[in-house]
Amino acid sequence: MPNDEAGLFPELPPRLEGTELVRRRNAEAQRQYRARPANAAKLAARLEVQRALAHGDLTRPEGCAECGVSCVPEAHHSDYARPQSVEWLCRACHMRRHRLPEALPGQMSLQLGERP
Ligand SMILES: [Zn+2]
Repeated sequence: MPNDEAGLFPELPPRLEGTELVRRRNAEAQRQYRARPANAAKLAARLEVQRALAHGDLTRPEGCAECGVSCVPEAHHSDYARPQSVEWLCRACHMRRHRLPEALPGQMSLQLGERP
């Protein structure tokens, strides 16, 4: 029986399943990610880009600066201390850029299959 509907253990919360379980796990992972001091500069830089876009100080182009594909490009920071200095890259180029060995400390440098 997926849930304790018979009430044998009323002190236990109902077991979470499916999309609600996934939603809560993702929310907790996101909370932990945001709480990590190593991610503070990264998060501040992303927020600054969002503010700059909203105020018209930055304009998102309609394609990737590296491969030229038409897309909604992501803002790549080579230095989180200069949050408005961004390079607009498609998802694939952005992830490739972060896997390069010259990625700055604190930046994503995940290899395929590696967990954060
Ligand atoms: Zn690209």
